[in-house]
Amino acid sequence: MNEVSPNAPATRRDELRHNVAAVQERIDAACRAAGRDPADVTLIVVTKTYPASDVALLAELGVTDVGENRHPEAGEKAADVQAPLRWHFVGGLQTNKAGAVTRYADVVQSVDRAKLARSLSRGAEAAGREVGCLVQVDFDGDRAGRAGIAPDGVDELADLVADLPGLRLDGVMTVAPLGLDPAPVFEHLGRISAGLVVRHPGAGVVSAGMSEDFEAAIAAGATHLRIGRAVLGERPRVG
Ligand SMILES: *Cc1c(COP(=O)(O)O)cnc(C)c1O
Repeated sequence: MNEVSPNAPATRRDELRHNVAAVQERIDAACRAAGRDPADVTLIVVTKTYPASDVALLAELGVTDVGENRHPEAGEKAADVQAPLRWHFVGGLQTNKAGAVTRYADVVQSVDRAKLARSLSRGAEAAGREVGCLVQVDFDGDRAGRAGIAPDGVDELADLVADLPGLRLDGVMTVAPLGLDPAPVFEHLGRISAGLVVRHPGAGVVSAGMSEDFEAAIAAGATHLRIGRAVLGERPRVG
């Protein structure tokens, strides 16, 4: 045993262990309130802007899934961390970077247009990998430049993803619009998912909920939570 004085600063490992446990407790409580089994909810820790050393510590602490939103940062970390983790790409993705992302991402959660789906398919085929895809849905049609496809476009894009070689349609994802009550948004996503699984029974993933709103996502049926700050701390401001 190490002798640690009570006043010694907590190590990063202690801090992450504490935060993961606290988040898991909140997940468990929200599941109890919703009558759901916590085993049906996967925590994805979004490690963007944090170093690969944090990702390695999270893996040691039992985290199985991590999320990143930028290439090449995501690929560099995936190459650095040896632990077996599922890597989720959750950020906006330019078509010309799609091929590179398919070399390390297990799931791309931000599929929001046919052109991107086709590029991912070509990349996955070239890499000899199967890449899971979530159709990212946007519920805030008024704001220009937002990532995601409008609800009425989901079926067509999902059908395309399901047909493309190298891709596996896993389900849907959303980021709740800033400043709106997230609950109705997550419920709407749940209804879209219910419709989707009728035609694509394997596509039951519902990725919703971040540090501020994941309890509402659990109440609405989310299967995957993407949580950054509540585990890693406030991100340094990046330009
Ligand atoms: C950063 C990010 C998250 C995590 O957000 P937090 O507020 O840090 O929990 C989730 N989803 C996406 C798409 C993100 O970019």
